[in-house]
Amino acid sequence: MTNSWLDEFPARIEELDQAHLRRRRAVVAPDGGARLRVDGRSMLAFCSNDYLGLSQHPEMVQAACDGAQTFGVGSGGSPLVSGHSAANEALEHELAAFVGLPRALYFYAGFSTNVGIIPALVGAGDAIFSDALNHACLIDGARLSRAQIHRYAHIDLDSLDHELKHSSARRKLVISDAVFSMDGTCADIPALLALCERHDALLLLDDAHGFGVRGPQGRGSLADAGLYDDQGTRRVLYMATLGKAAGVAGAFVAGDAALVEWLLQKTRSYTFATAAPALLASALSISLRVIAKEDWRRSHLNLLIARLRSGLAAGLQGSDWQLTESHTAIQPLLIGANDKALAVMQALREQGIWVPAIRPPTVQEGTARLRIALSAAHGEADVDLLIETLITLSRSLR
Ligand SMILES: *Cc1c(COP(=O)(O)O)cnc(C)c1O
Repeated sequence: MTNSWLDEFPARIEELDQAHLRRRRAVVAPDGGARLRVDGRSMLAFCSNDYLGLSQHPEMVQAACDGAQTFGVGSGGSPLVSGHSAANEALEHELAAFVGLPRALYFYAGFSTNVGIIPALVGAGDAIFSDALNHACLIDGARLSRAQIHRYAHIDLDSLDHELKHSSARRKLVISDAVFSMDGTCADIPALLALCERHDALLLLDDAHGFGVRGPQGRGSLADAGLYDDQGTRRVLYMATLGKAAGVAGAFVAGDAALVEWLLQKTRSYTFATAAPALLASALSISLRVIAKEDWRRSHLNLLIARLRSGLAAGLQGSDWQLTESHTAIQPLLIGANDKALAVMQALREQGIWVPAIRPPTVQEGTARLRIALSAAHGEADVDLLIETLITLSRSLR
């Protein structure tokens, strides 16, 4: 056969290479604090979502080992057959209590949670209202549902109100990140809920980057908005991932008990997938306790955020590199052109600092950036080194 599409992959990869395809690197081992051992070198990393520095926590590691001793390493089946361990059951109660909502459902991963729950909630004839900067898995879940999708401008509530007002669908679902992963901006949750109330819509909030770091005791973005244990939260379905600040893996949705029961029954990525191994739930139970108890991690992280922002604001005066209006651990530095952002990433890497460059189509054309992610595992000296190196580069690479 001539010209089979199967022969085209090397050329297509070559094209990606020209456009600087993303390379996967094997991290050999964490190297203390926020350092990683990669390509035979110790790198100071500003690229992880381990915002509280919990992924190496000794008590959590021990809990995972104990969980493996008790339950083995695999769950053996779907949660609706035999995979739902007593550890996973206990974790669900702890998660619901932690965010102050009636019930929670624990998933093995965040991506498949959103891809699965949106089609369980709405379908053909229904309507979804989606922030323009939502995470890929919210977008994919919306597409899979076959509901009509209305995209509104990023955190633009007038635009959302307009779309809601002109929809005649009976079931309306508003989907939004609580903290946007590439910009660090935050959704106005009380205002979103008020709009949902007015238009009889349900709000699905993805708090992947807020859980553990925002709100009293790290209880997340709803708690941060004063919506902890609040009767007004019937209209919100709260989703968060457990592989970021919580330091392990997995995700959960929490909300009204009937709604969560519906999702348990109807989410295909839940029903037709192997349950998360119990050893993860064992580690996560400890993680929740550490998150609530160790306030110093959030205080330290906030101090680092302020230090980076003031240091860069002072040192980059007159440069066209700009921080966004973010007060979260995600501190994107807008560079502009793709090749420039890559050059900065490369120059940092040569000095042992790892910050990923994010380019279109992940972000808008002309807004290529470094996505600096801070963690409680960083020391002040780590942040100072990043600030100084960036200031020097802004002069040499202009
Ligand atoms: C990381 C992320 C997810 C996916 O979660 P995983 O557990 O990594 O699959 C979902 N939503 C947002 C906003 C994320 O940043």
